[in-house]
Amino acid sequence: MEQHGAVLMWGRSLELHKLRYTTFIGDGDSSSFKSVLAAKPYGDDVTITKSDCIGHVQKRMGTQLRRLWVEHKDVEIPTLSGESTRKGLKGANRLTADLVNRLQNYYGIAIRSHTGDKPGMITAITAIYCHHANDHSFCPPGESSWCKYNRGDPSYAPKEIQPEVLDLMEPVFERLSDEDLLERLQRGDTQNSNEALHSLIWRRCPKGVFASLEIIRLSTSLAVIQRNVGSVGLASVLHSLGILDTDVSIRLLEKIDVKKKNQLLRQRSVEYKRRRQMLRGMKKRGEDALWQKEMSSYEAGGFGMIEEEESGSRKGARKRRKKARDQEGQSISKRPHRAAASVSTPPSETCPPPASQRRPRNVRRPEC
Ligand SMILES: [Zn+2]
Repeated sequence: MEQHGAVLMWGRSLELHKLRYTTFIGDGDSSSFKSVLAAKPYGDDVTITKSDCIGHVQKRMGTQLRRLWVEHKDVEIPTLSGESTRKGLKGANRLTADLVNRLQNYYGIAIRSHTGDKPGMITAITAIYCHHANDHSFCPPGESSWCKYNRGDPSYAPKEIQPEVLDLMEPVFERLSDEDLLERLQRGDTQNSNEALHSLIWRRCPKGVFASLEIIRLSTSLAVIQRNVGSVGLASVLHSLGILDTDVSIRLLEKIDVKKKNQLLRQRSVEYKRRRQMLRGMKKRGEDALWQKEMSSYEAGGFGMIEEEESGSRKGARKRRKKARDQEGQSISKRPHRAAASVSTPPSETCPPPASQRRPRNVRRPEC
């Protein structure tokens, strides 16, 4: 019977590296973990625990909220005034693409900032939902709070998300604050380092192109050298091949390493992170718009609606860009419209608003 790849890795760790892998960091697919558990690579005495990648779990918030758009696209929901109804969850005072992205962002902040503190993590996640339902009893108190209501900010205005929409969102928050799931996030593990190595391998050996085992092995070896030693580590490879083994080539490789090091330092800067956040926001908006367009095309008369929406959204985008240019002024003069269109506002700035105080019925109270 063919063995699972993870089982092979676990099975040879003692022989190859004289160590045991006691924590399994997964991305939600539990079949590998089950295979490893069943194989008992270190006998009955060594327990292997599962930890989830925070980044992958964070994405579930966005994925599950977007799924609501599809599941409830034909549901008639009263407008905020209560005078009429409108289909679906999109639009003003409902689950907009911006709101989905913000909620996913806040969820990530809540879990990352409470690793090792499960009750605190549950409270922080509950606070996100309740805050948007204008219940601020879970939001952090005091002047340093991100919640404008709790810190007494006069600019605070209540959120106006419709109660029916909040009811539909509630199960998503309940699922993503499940105690077993949060237990697996307590170590704060991510798969980022694995992903970094994988990107070095697949850059040399693209997944979309067939490659022999030898090519994959070679790509992996070169990627490991670059990851552990840097580009200068390739000098010994070149030497063994009898090519380019000169001071000039080594200096060039060293130059590449210095360049990469400087790039890494730049990437850690606040400015760079802000810029990246903007670009990510733009990308998400584009993806959401495309998805929305594809969803509409399946409805009767959907193609006509798309044209109208596109026309309207282009006009809206022009207005938003102009307004953003007026507000941002010189600071974003190089690419004003793109930067302004993608600004992702932090919780403190978008906090909100209670028109009516409403406590969700089923959200569980924190155990702290
Ligand atoms: Zn609040």
